[in-house]
Amino acid sequence: MTRAAAPARTGLFGGTFNPIHLAHLRAAEDVAEALGLDRVVFVPSATPPHKKPAPGETMAPAALRVAWVHLAVCGNPRFAVDDLEVVRGGLSYTVETLRIYRERLAPEAPVFLIGQDAMQEIGSWKEPEALLELAHFAVMTRPPLPPLPLAEVIPPALAAAFDFEANGQLARHRTAGTLVRRVRITPLDVSASDLRARLRSGRSVRYLIPDAVRDAVLESAVYAGSHAQRGVPK
Ligand code: ATP
Repeated sequence: MTRAAAPARTGLFGGTFNPIHLAHLRAAEDVAEALGLDRVVFVPSATPPHKKPAPGETMAPAALRVAWVHLAVCGNPRFAVDDLEVVRGGLSYTVETLRIYRERLAPEAPVFLIGQDAMQEIGSWKEPEALLELAHFAVMTRPPLPPLPLAEVIPPALAAAFDFEANGQLARHRTAGTLVRRVRITPLDVSASDLRARLRSGRSVRYLIPDAVRDAVLESAVYAGSHAQRGVPK
């Protein structure tokens, strides 16, 4: 992408996407619409520092997760995929991705899409202060948790750098000028961990992930448990 071609308003949606599902896609669509973004770039992580698979859990190979995200977004002209974290390899640190995008999009800052649950944990990410200075953040509600005011979502040590406005729906970084905005999205209680559990036990994931992704996931058999020998429901 050349600098001149950089769109004015770009969302970045980082995640493991293990696998990508309909709630990810609807959330990105809602944020794009609410904030008037020209596009949302999905950025699958390589080895995420915060997502060590629990015993019995599977982290699908990065190349597969990237391929599934491509399948999921290909029908939406506003959606794109960037595999820079997978190409970079090693641990995926969002702060490094944001520095690259900040440079590419200058003088615009990207909008990073993040679930409320993930924002509550951002203090444990690499360079959390820098993260909040490099990009705007769109904090997405995520069921079953109720939407909380931003002052309760941004960890206290980081919240001190912000002024809170609009009944806790907006936070403005006092020195960097970046914004954290709460965006209400269509509540869909779909999670990748639940999908993996269904796939492990041979249950259906139809209508929870796009058909093309479901076909590719089943074809890979990456999450399949012992039921795989007996055939997987389509
Ligand atoms: P897992 O269930 O494996 O923990 P996850 O979907 O939480 O998966 P990611 O794929 O890394 O993990 O999620 C990417 C981003 O999407 C995160 O910011 C997460 O909070 C957000 N997200 C995931 N599911 C939903 C959902 N149902 N509604 C809103 N946001 C979501």
